Amino acid sequence: MAEYGKVFLVGAGPGDEDMLTVKAKRLIENAQVVVFDRLVSEPIMNLIPDSAIKINVGKNVGDHPVPQEEINQILVDKAKEGYDVVRLKGGDSFLFGRGGEELELLCENKINFEVIPGITSAIAAAAYAGIPVTHRDYCSSLHIITGHKKKDGALDLDYSALVKLNGTLIFMMSVANIGEIAKGLMENGMSPSMDCAIVENGTRPNQRKFVADIGTIKQVIANNNVKSPALIVVGKVCSLADKFDWFSNQPLSGKRILVTRPKANSNKLAEKLKSLGADVISIAAIKTKPIDFIMPQLENYTMLIFTSAVGVDVFFQKLLSLGKDTRQLSGLKIAVVGKETAKALLNYGIQADFIPNTFSGEILAKEMLQKEVIGQTDKLLLLRAKDASKELTNILSEYNIRFEETAVYETVYEKNDSINPLDFDLVTFTSASCVDGFINSVNNPFDFSTINAVCIGEQTAAEAKKYNMNITISKEATIDSMVECIGGIYHASKSQKTQSK
Ligand code: SAH
Repeated sequence: MAEYGKVFLVGAGPGDEDMLTVKAKRLIENAQVVVFDRLVSEPIMNLIPDSAIKINVGKNVGDHPVPQEEINQILVDKAKEGYDVVRLKGGDSFLFGRGGEELELLCENKINFEVIPGITSAIAAAAYAGIPVTHRDYCSSLHIITGHKKKDGALDLDYSALVKLNGTLIFMMSVANIGEIAKGLMENGMSPSMDCAIVENGTRPNQRKFVADIGTIKQVIANNNVKSPALIVVGKVCSLADKFDWFSNQPLSGKRILVTRPKANSNKLAEKLKSLGADVISIAAIKTKPIDFIMPQLENYTMLIFTSAVGVDVFFQKLLSLGKDTRQLSGLKIAVVGKETAKALLNYGIQADFIPNTFSGEILAKEMLQKEVIGQTDKLLLLRAKDASKELTNILSEYNIRFEETAVYETVYEKNDSINPLDFDLVTFTSASCVDGFINSVNNPFDFSTINAVCIGEQTAAEAKKYNMNITISKEATIDSMVECIGGIYHASKSQKTQSK
């Protein structure tokens, strides 16, 4: 039995990847095999390592592509092959998740397992809609009910008992049958004016909420074309849904933002925008590939210039791999293009000697000349991307400043067919090569003049301008300044709306 793998029955929560438990996240990120359902959201799927075997047993109401018995068998087979298996399910695995059924066969086969509870959509989707499922002033019990019909087409609900409970009723898998359920409740004494709410795609960026009453709920669902997954909450607590609506009142609620980023970079911008309520899709528009360069003779230069954090990292990794360290740079001045590059430098214990006021290679050169940071006696070493833009070097040549370039990394574009730029309110660019990556990733011909772009600096903006995008430039070349800039755009439009109300 020791050579068998273990099965982890993991609740993936309601959709928002921040609603995963710490344990679930750890298991997913280290998974060897993941057997997953349709309700598991895309951001969570993205946490699964590329090396893992992914088995889609996705099932929806009334549609079971992989029969339950087969799923049970897959878990047993994979564990017997020696894999640790993450069985990933929406919400909590034991709440209408058939988790219990899957454990039966594991027990029979003496396969070890663990259960990792998940945040159930029954409570989380309600919370994201501003509905506390219990409240002392309104109810003293909570009931979670499936509105899924059995094979014989019957709904097995004791309406009279449900009405008498006088608690909050949460119906899952009930969108299709809500008419019958509402009728049953009203025929058994529930007032047609009883408060109700529908939460579609709860906790996800595309969450929709409708407040209704039991007399009109069927119509509200039909009028708004509500689709599964949706939760139907019946009870007086729903009367709080508007007052406690925090989700749609976030600064960037309802805004879809496409973040283009170099793959190696962290997703800080995407995370910050998301925390303000935006629906953020982040694409790796470009990948940076380190070049195995020959370390120049550093003593031949008076100054090093870095124009990106990646350049800094690749350079220092090379230095360290040669058994050398930052002492090789003593006596050398160092200039960087912006604050993020300066931060990367600081990671190696070095303060930048010069940062221009504006994030741009051209301005870097001009300011250094103006402030006499560089002169005829200097010799500069530019450590940057292969085929980097000529703005910086043109100025140096013009003023007869001696320089040499070493390409320390190259930029590779990634194709992305699944993104339609028209689906977004904004696209963000943190470098000119992100603009190029974005242009390359989109199926041409495309009219980019419809794109609202937020750019980190002049050089990035100049690249976006070539495609006639509508451009806003952040005040500073930092992620925080980008976030502030985006917040400002929508703050302005929100207050205009409020004024016109
Ligand atoms: N085990 C899951 C529920 C599975 S049953 C859990 O604990 O959440 C599937 C039903 O869950 C759907 O029909 C819908 O009613 C509800 N559901 C799941 N995710 C949801 C979401 N993000 N928003 C609203 N309802 C959701």
